[in-house]
Amino acid sequence: MKSVIVVGAGIWGTSLALRLAETGWRVTLVEQYAPGHVHQASAGETRLLRCSHGSDDWYARMAWRAREGWLRLGERAGEELYTETGMMWFAQREDGWESVSAQVLKNLDIPHERLDPEEAGRRFPGFGGDDLAFVLWEPNAGVLRARRATQVTARLARAAGVTFVRARAEPYEKGTGVVADGEVLTADRVVWACGAWLPGLFDLKLDLKLEVTRQDTLHFGVPREWTSPPLPAFCDYELSAYGHGDLDGMGMKVTSDAEGEPYDVETGSRQVLPRSEELARDYLRRRFPSLLGAPVVFSQVCQYTLTKDAEWIIAEAADGVWLLGGDSGHGFKHAPALAEHVADILDGVREVEPRFGLHERTAARGLRTSGETAPSGG
Ligand SMILES: Cc1cc2nc3c(=O)[nH]c(=O)nc-3n(C[C@H](O)[C@H](O)[C@H](O)COP(=O)(O)OP(=O)(O)OC[C@H]3O[C@@H](n4cnc5c(N)ncnc54)[C@H](O)[C@@H]3O)c2cc1C
Repeated sequence: MKSVIVVGAGIWGTSLALRLAETGWRVTLVEQYAPGHVHQASAGETRLLRCSHGSDDWYARMAWRAREGWLRLGERAGEELYTETGMMWFAQREDGWESVSAQVLKNLDIPHERLDPEEAGRRFPGFGGDDLAFVLWEPNAGVLRARRATQVTARLARAAGVTFVRARAEPYEKGTGVVADGEVLTADRVVWACGAWLPGLFDLKLDLKLEVTRQDTLHFGVPREWTSPPLPAFCDYELSAYGHGDLDGMGMKVTSDAEGEPYDVETGSRQVLPRSEELARDYLRRRFPSLLGAPVVFSQVCQYTLTKDAEWIIAEAADGVWLLGGDSGHGFKHAPALAEHVADILDGVREVEPRFGLHERTAARGLRTSGETAPSGG
């Protein structure tokens, strides 16, 4: 039987472990804390699933396939992990990122619609959309209960036969293995799915250097009429802001996608900064003015692990030793489909995509709503 050690029980590691265990691998999953622990990126209360990715159709297809995966996973678990609230993209320009995305969705037959900004006003009372050219509506986009989904995936992985080892792993220099709290574990393959810890474990080349940044999220209390059914998710590409309506009574999420300060994932404070609340309220003033004075009802600090171009790392660093990381703040939604993709690579039935390699990366913004370079409209 083929054997693999996966290090890291965030959503990437747990999803991969589950997939491999269900396709004939003997799997050991090494995690230093409990799945869903507060330091991991996958412990965010919610994450968005959307298919629009500008001109990129690879991620659009992957997100669409992942949606199926989430729905199936929810059925298996007997709980709703994904709520299809739909998502509005507030387009300030006719020929911007949103219209390029719409073209890709059209090519891929992924449902979408062009709405007048007034329609957003009907969904969000008091909506401020005078500056908008149109709204791109993705009816099948929505909100994942991320932390819960990570814990559920870990539970299903365990039930599928994955052996969990609670330890901090270090690279094993003498072969395909890890040193887990001093004990050597070996297997045919090792996959390091270590999120923000990856740069501390491997000496990545300077031009691939991962940047770990602090990201604050805030949820605001909304009128009861806004809570059922939940209002849609939304994203403002030009303003680097996104969020979603109140789900499970957690308030409306309104958050900036702009990169925060460099962050230490283990020792950094998990209390949001006053500046982040100011930024969120500036955005409320512009788009959702009726919520300007709303109280913060929930907040969280998390971290992005960014590559320069926001493309992930899926690469064999040494014989049988794989790195899976650099999610760049847009990896959660893809997890079930990404797990299939990586399992196929480990099974030797799929080639690695060159874009995910350990090569020099050039700064680009197309995959995120924030970043170093100006949006090119695709
Ligand atoms: C504020 C914010 C908003 C986001 N919004 C979205 C969104 O809307 N949609 C979306 O798709 N994505 C979003 N993301 C990105 C998403 O959260 C991440 O892509 C995803 O959670 C990454 O999962 P991961 O498994 O790679 O990493 P993590 O969840 O961080 O897991 C890594 C795990 O590895 C473990 N580990 C590390 N080193 C070791 C070691 N040496 N030994 C043992 N264990 C180890 C850690 O303890 C941790 O549990 C967002 C991220 C943030 C911060």
